[in-house]
Amino acid sequence: MSDTIYRIIPKNPDFSLPNSYIKQLVTLLERSIVSYDEVSWQKFENPTFIDCGGNFTFVSCPSCNEVIPDEIWGDMMTKCYEDSHFNSLETTTPCCNFPTTLNDLNYDWDCSFARFTIEILNPKKPIEWNEKGLVGLEELRNYRVIVARI
Ligand SMILES: [Zn+2]
Repeated sequence: MSDTIYRIIPKNPDFSLPNSYIKQLVTLLERSIVSYDEVSWQKFENPTFIDCGGNFTFVSCPSCNEVIPDEIWGDMMTKCYEDSHFNSLETTTPCCNFPTTLNDLNYDWDCSFARFTIEILNPKKPIEWNEKGLVGLEELRNYRVIVARI
């Protein structure tokens, strides 16, 4: 049996909050979601790649849509990490030399960078999200959801 994790992260990869605020969001979520196994959170010193686990398929260029081979994308990630520990996500795509960021590549199944994540393990119903955030929870307006299968 695999688990499904909803990873709620700020849209801005540089954005962070004090722990007490994150805990308040966790409490709001625990009250708002009908049924789940666990709500937890994690904070990182630097922007960190928030992956979608087994949902990952491929990455492509935001300019020409060419698929970026996994090894080359891996090299782009390694270089950015070695240069700045992901504090700068700037990169150039190999296909057409398009200047962009690792965060703005087209991840076929949504992935992103963030400095903290709030994770909902196995919600019993899919979580409804719109431009105002989690339906009924406007505090999460500037957030997005990465759905990971692990
Ligand atoms: Zn390209």
